[in-house]
Amino acid sequence: MTVRTRFAPSPTGFLHLGGARTALYSWAFARHFGGTFVLRIEDTDLERSTPEAVQAILDGMQWLGLSHDEGPFYQMQRMDRYREVVASMLEQGTAYLCYCSPDEVEAMRERMRAAGDKPRYDGTWRPEPGKELPPVPEGVKPVVRFKNPLDGEVTWVDVVKGPITIANKELDDLIIARPDGTPTYNFCVSVDDWDMKITHVLRGDDHVNNTPRQINILNALGAELPQYGHLPMILGADGAKLSKRHGAVSVMEYPAQGYLPEAMLNYLARLGWSHGDDEIFSMEQFTEWFNLEHLTASAAQFNPEKLAWLNNHYIKLADNERLASLVRPVIEREGGVLDGAPALPTVLALVKDRAHTVNELADTAMLFYRAPKPDAALLAQHLTDAVRPALAAFAERCKEVEWSKAAIAALFKEVLAAHGLKMPQIAMPLRLLVTGQLQTPAIDAVLELFGRDTVLARIGKGL
Ligand code: GLU
Repeated sequence: MTVRTRFAPSPTGFLHLGGARTALYSWAFARHFGGTFVLRIEDTDLERSTPEAVQAILDGMQWLGLSHDEGPFYQMQRMDRYREVVASMLEQGTAYLCYCSPDEVEAMRERMRAAGDKPRYDGTWRPEPGKELPPVPEGVKPVVRFKNPLDGEVTWVDVVKGPITIANKELDDLIIARPDGTPTYNFCVSVDDWDMKITHVLRGDDHVNNTPRQINILNALGAELPQYGHLPMILGADGAKLSKRHGAVSVMEYPAQGYLPEAMLNYLARLGWSHGDDEIFSMEQFTEWFNLEHLTASAAQFNPEKLAWLNNHYIKLADNERLASLVRPVIEREGGVLDGAPALPTVLALVKDRAHTVNELADTAMLFYRAPKPDAALLAQHLTDAVRPALAAFAERCKEVEWSKAAIAALFKEVLAAHGLKMPQIAMPLRLLVTGQLQTPAIDAVLELFGRDTVLARIGKGL
C-alpha cells in the first residue's frame, strides 16, 4: 500500500497552531513511508471562505516547509464531480430525494423532542421495499438524503483514541445535496478522500462526530476506508482552548516575532507525539521516527517558554549569514545604520547565544548600529574622576596594541593593575561611552568588533 495523507483546511481564517500540527503530522507520515501528501482546500463555505485565508494557509505551509505532492485541490472546482456522484447514488438507491420543506423537518424534530426522543428526520421520503411514498408536491425542489443504515453500528479503531463505536440509530439520513444541487460538507470530504485515495486521515478531534457519517458514505460508495486519527486540541497553559489571549495563534505571527521555522516544527512535532525523552530533533529525524503509535491521546498544552527555548537552540545553530538576512530588515526598520559599522554576521556570532527570538537578536545587535547616547546621570555615576585617568591611559595604549580581543583583554589587565582599579570600574564607563548602554556582551569582544578608530573616537568624545 502506498501511503497517501492529506491536509484539508477550510480557508476561513489563518493557519493556526492546531492546523499546522495536523499538517505536520500528515506530511511527516507520508514522508516516513515515501508516500504522497495531498493539500486540499475545503472552500465550499462561500460565506466564510476567502482568498486571503487560502493565501495565509499556503504562506504558513511554505514557511514551515511542508511541501505537498499533489494539489492544492479546491472543492469549489470539483462541483461537477460531486454532482456526478450524487446522481450515481440516486441511481443505485443509496441516496433518495426528499421533498420535505425545512419547516416540515423542524416540525417533525419538535414532535420528537416533545416525545422525549432524539430529534431526527423521520424517514418520510426514505424508500423501502413495499413502502408507498407520499405524492410529490408541486413546485418543491427536493434535497438529496443519504440512506444511512438503520441498524447496526459503525466502529473504527482510531489511531489516536482507540476503538470508537457509534450506533447507526444516532445518525440521521444526512442531506448530501441541497435543493439547488450544491453538495454538503461530509459528502464532499468523503468523495474527496475516496477520489484522492487517501489511506490515513489525521485531523482535529472536532471531527470525530463526522467520521461515522463519512464511513457510511464511503461504504455506500464501495470505497476502501482510510484509517482515521483524531488529534486532541491544543490548550493554553491555563487549560482553556488556545486563543488570542495565550499569545499568537496564527502561525504566521511567529516569523514576525522572530521565530525560526525549525523551532516551530520541532515544537509542534513534540506537542502531541513523543519519541522517548527526545526534545530536540531535526525534521529528518522526525520523519524517520514519526509513527502513529506514539501520538498523545490527551490534549496538549501550549507552552510559549518551551517554544522560546527551542528557538534559542536553533538560533545558536543557525548560519550567521542566514540570521543576518532576518535581522537586517529589523535593524533598518528601527533606524540602525549598517554602513560603516561592524559586519552583521560577525556581530550575530557574538550575540546570538542568549537570544530567544530574531527580534531579541536584533535588539542586542542594535548596539553596534546606533550612535551611543549614554544617559547623563549614569555617565556621571560611572565616569568618576578616579576612573578618567585610567580610561585616558587605556585609550593611549589602544593606539599601539594589535587590535584583537586577546590583546585588548591583556591591555585591561595592565591598565587596571597600574591604576589599582577593578574591571567593572573601567568596563562600565567604557560600555556607556562606546555603546550607550550598560548591558553588552563581553567588552573586549565588543571593542574588537567596533574597531580601533570608533573606540578611540567615542572614548575621546566622552572624556
Ligand atoms: N476542513 C476541515 C477543517 O478545516 C478538515 C476536514 C478534514 O480534515 O477532514 O477543520
